[in-house]
Amino acid sequence: MGLPRIGIAACGGTIAATADGGGTATPRLGAADLLDAAPWLRDIADPQARTVMTKASPDITVDDTVRLHDELVAFVRDERLDGVVVTSGTDTLEEVAFTVDLLWDSDVPLVVTGAIRNASKPGADGPANLTAAVATAASAAARGLGALVVLNDQVHAARYARKGNSGNVAAFVSPTVGPLGYLAEGVPVIPLRVSRTPRVDPPVLPVSAAVALLTTFMGDDGALLPAVASGGFAGLVVAGFGGGHVPAAFAEHPAFAQLLDSVPVVLASRANAGEPLRATYSGFSGSETELARRGVISAGCLDAPKARVLLTLLAAAGEPPERVRAAFRRFSALP
Ligand code: ASP
Repeated sequence: MGLPRIGIAACGGTIAATADGGGTATPRLGAADLLDAAPWLRDIADPQARTVMTKASPDITVDDTVRLHDELVAFVRDERLDGVVVTSGTDTLEEVAFTVDLLWDSDVPLVVTGAIRNASKPGADGPANLTAAVATAASAAARGLGALVVLNDQVHAARYARKGNSGNVAAFVSPTVGPLGYLAEGVPVIPLRVSRTPRVDPPVLPVSAAVALLTTFMGDDGALLPAVASGGFAGLVVAGFGGGHVPAAFAEHPAFAQLLDSVPVVLASRANAGEPLRATYSGFSGSETELARRGVISAGCLDAPKARVLLTLLAAAGEPPERVRAAFRRFSALP
């Protein structure tokens, strides 16, 4: 038996960045360059390179990520891959990974990785992360888990992974559940399993549905809500306080009622982990029970950016309110 055929689909980001002089770096490298910089990969896999885009990840859109998914499907089919690795910028890596996780209809391992330190920095982590990602994509233990995020020798489920540190190589965390596994001397060990993320159908491109995201803050009187209500958005995600609360002035703002009447409104928590509450507080209009009574949908275990990805795909598919509600319910432990 030959080595596992592993695709490397490059999308840009720091892992693909080269120095500009003056201490800054710009994403320029393609998949073949990344492979050339890590020749030892040929000892653990039969790697195939494909450059999908060369973007700084703040510029990656939902459309780019849907196209990336379609490219990955074709890459796996054309090259008869046993696994595939996506390299991308860490700023939006969690959204990219979760979008492809929602769309991926295959047991073939799909691993997303990146880097914090570009190739010109001491201790550049790109080659090590790429190596760990290729080893994970080549592992039978990664089959059927959907999209995984592998950086710093840790394996995370895309559904839970977040960038939790802006500049440390230990940037990725899974605050609610912890990582699924790790690499021991280069060997992926995945003792914990997650159920597959409920799949959604790929939308027709371009996705015209835009979903707004507002994070509440102390004293938030909902002043931005009229802009959302008149902005033509297909939905709103609110990152509320801890248990999923908003100030009374926000909840009672006429534009909030207008939004609830016209588009799905999803409530996530701006806290780092856990789910919004369902049945703990009442008696104030921004409480979770009061918001639920008015039709606000809980994001369940999804953080606000991931809830926004899901709502964008559902809105793009023109899903009616009950199906949007049902789709989010599958991400919650609670009824
Ligand atoms: N800091 C980012 C990265 O890690 C830049 C980007 O996301 O493209 O790749």
